Amino acid sequence: MKRYSVFAIAREAARYHSGWSRAWKSPVPQKKYDVVIIGAGGHGLATAFYLGKNFGITNVAIIEKGWLGGGNTGRNTTIIRSNYLQDPSAAIYEKARSLYETMSQDLNYNVMFSPRGVMMLAQTEHEVRGYKRTAHANALQGVSTEFISADRVKELAPIINISGPRYPVLGALWQERGGTARHDAVAWGYARACSDMGMDILQKCEVTGVRSIGGKVVGVDTTKGAIDCEKLAIVVAGNSGDIARMAGFRLPMESVALQALVSEPIKPALDVVVMANTVHGYMSQSDKGEMVIGGGTDAYNNYTQRGGFHHIEETVRALVETFPMISRLKMLRQWGGIVDVTGDRSPIIGTTPLGNCFINCGWGTGGFKSIPGGGWATAELIAKGTPGPLCAEFGLNRFTEGRFIDESVAAGVAH
Ligand SMILES: Cc1cc2nc3c(=O)[nH]c(=O)nc-3n(C[C@H](O)[C@H](O)[C@H](O)COP(=O)(O)OP(=O)(O)OC[C@H]3O[C@@H](n4cnc5c(N)ncnc54)[C@H](O)[C@@H]3O)c2cc1C
Repeated sequence: MKRYSVFAIAREAARYHSGWSRAWKSPVPQKKYDVVIIGAGGHGLATAFYLGKNFGITNVAIIEKGWLGGGNTGRNTTIIRSNYLQDPSAAIYEKARSLYETMSQDLNYNVMFSPRGVMMLAQTEHEVRGYKRTAHANALQGVSTEFISADRVKELAPIINISGPRYPVLGALWQERGGTARHDAVAWGYARACSDMGMDILQKCEVTGVRSIGGKVVGVDTTKGAIDCEKLAIVVAGNSGDIARMAGFRLPMESVALQALVSEPIKPALDVVVMANTVHGYMSQSDKGEMVIGGGTDAYNNYTQRGGFHHIEETVRALVETFPMISRLKMLRQWGGIVDVTGDRSPIIGTTPLGNCFINCGWGTGGFKSIPGGGWATAELIAKGTPGPLCAEFGLNRFTEGRFIDESVAAGVAH
């Protein structure tokens, strides 16, 4: 793989950019791989990358029914933070956040990580207590957050109306090194690095069946034929229930659409990320100037990857008191992704009833931020066959043993 650098750009500029090679290959599937990963979203690709980088396992296929990054990874609002309440969550999200800090260098691909700061507004006394509690927990977990006053909120984000009649801003949980990254670039950067290690990314190839003998997976059926494997990883977010059904087990998880929208581009007005969970919306400004706005999940289970008008109205109405300026913005486009929500709003990373089959899912509305951490933990799980410290608590067995990792507050929007 040719490294991207200022010298490479200068060299290519001199020859009319005719020498760039494709960022990843489009190979024909082999008959068998050591590891097959279903799903070329951020988590699937990151899992493959850390399998190669940390464990030297490169005979890997990543199978994707659409195009890589075309699931939730390319549809999210890109918020990165690690201010979760429970210890296992703080550990995996902070690992991920710290990997984002050096991701552009590690992948030799500009993922535009922008640690501009994330604030979660406290707009009720209940939230003040909750976020102060999270700030104390984060201090013990080594995650750098603080509870800031309403005046500081106004200083950091002058467009916020802190004295709204219904929900005045009483303070906020502030994570200075939280922020955003370019979502497609994260998928593309991992894909390029995986392809360079010799892994096969098989796009437009849908898994239609999982073959097993004696409690062990032997391969998968796909729209491009049968592919055998020594180990299988299911990393398909909202479609996890489908693949689990093919493999013969059930998951404690629901699939729902989560929607987002962007406005027309405007001059720089907001240089932090703001989440307002009581009124139910969050907003940041993209590099292009669009206001990126997210709301809640649909109230019913579905697989509809598109937006609905009621969501625009609901979310904008909710945010208008806190951000009066958005009442004059035109909205450009909206979309939806199918997120995989568990009862305790925490992910599932672990073994399955099939011995050599592993799963990474359940990130719900918040799994973009965790892509490098989730991939790191899943790679370790696949390579060693048992969960490492980063995902030990996130196994499927917590639902039968009652060891829930309740993150319904920290998961962000109230759903
Ligand atoms: C509107 C919206 C806003 C969000 N905002 C944020 C945010 O601000 N911050 C944050 O941290 N998270 C956010 N999220 C959540 C985040 O996007 C997801 O948790 C994360 O992208 C999940 O990554 P993934 O790799 O597990 O799944 P995906 O990116 O969905 O990848 C799974 C892949 O599996 C493929 N697949 C499915 N079935 C099959 C099959 N049978 N065969 C082959 N391939 C298959 C799919 O096509 C898909 O590409 C948001 C999500 C949405 C929808």
